[in-house]
Amino acid sequence: MSDSRPELLVVADLPAWLQEPWQAEFLCHDWVHAPDREALLSRVAPRIRGVVTHAAGVVEETLLARLPGVEIVACFGVGYDGIPLAHCRSRGLRVSNTPEVLTDDTADIAVALLLMLCRDLLGANRHLATGQWPRGPAPLATAMAGKRVGILGLGRIGKAIARRLEAFGCILAYQGRQPQEVPYRYYPELRALARASDALVVACPGGAATRHLVDAEVLEALGAKGWLVNIARGSVVDEDALIAALHAGTIRGAALDVYAHEPMVPQALIDAPGVVLLPHVGSATRETRLAMSLGVLCNLRAHFAGEPLPTPVPGC
Ligand code: NAP
Repeated sequence: MSDSRPELLVVADLPAWLQEPWQAEFLCHDWVHAPDREALLSRVAPRIRGVVTHAAGVVEETLLARLPGVEIVACFGVGYDGIPLAHCRSRGLRVSNTPEVLTDDTADIAVALLLMLCRDLLGANRHLATGQWPRGPAPLATAMAGKRVGILGLGRIGKAIARRLEAFGCILAYQGRQPQEVPYRYYPELRALARASDALVVACPGGAATRHLVDAEVLEALGAKGWLVNIARGSVVDEDALIAALHAGTIRGAALDVYAHEPMVPQALIDAPGVVLLPHVGSATRETRLAMSLGVLCNLRAHFAGEPLPTPVPGC
């Protein structure tokens, strides 16, 4: 008996339990672990109607071009900088993502990173673990309360970070493409925001429009007493300039969840003074990852039922 389920190409490297919600309703082909991708394509390409990708991954335009019947690209995650949107729009493909459900977790990580920098929690942990405590207390750190925090990209996650930092007693300001009706000061220029901040938190989307917004000049404006936190995308920060600034002491430190060439992290960044580095874990909780999987399912269901997508990417 033939299988009438719509066929999907899954280019996201996700554990089986997160793919189960879709596998009941769709015939899924695993691109990531296919032993021979060419053989897989020649077998299934004409029948593929949807592609499922991961926000941290890239969907090659050349791959989409080889799928004549594809109708939707469903992204597991909120960032869609890895999807060739111009190609999708030109073909009338629908594109969905999973916003909102990961906002709290990612904002939590941003605040945790800032707290780790201010209070030097890694240093304090090292002090105890290396047996230094009996010889004397850990060095004093810096208070979070009263610090000026600038947020680059005051969207869903940026606002969730701001709400948390308000509770910590921080003074907030932001930069984006336009001012918003919020009780925080707006800086139309990023260098000016960096200059006026004790910490700059990056929370804008990745992609060509934001590539290297945080460059050597912004880092210099942040200054030797300033910290950088990036939970957005590695592409937003000029990683070479950051490494140079950290080694030269131009900035005080950086806490990062995202990198220019994940999962590769330059040794010079790992070795730099004053860094806290996480392996892209902003949304990495079981609860949120399941909610993201269900978000993918809802968009696929809506598409194949001929209904509006619950969470379409703007313009798709
Ligand atoms: P969002 O609601 O769309 O917010 C993005 C904000 O960035 C908007 O307020 C936008 O404001 C601003 N922005 C856009 N382009 C800009 C530019 N050129 N310069 C300055 N600001 C700009 O998105 P979100 O849900 O908060 O997610 C933000 C990003 O976080 C995602 O795109 C994703 O890459 C990243 N993320 C990372 C993790 C992780 O695991 N580390 C998890 C989730 C998300 P204006 O329109 O006013 O400019």
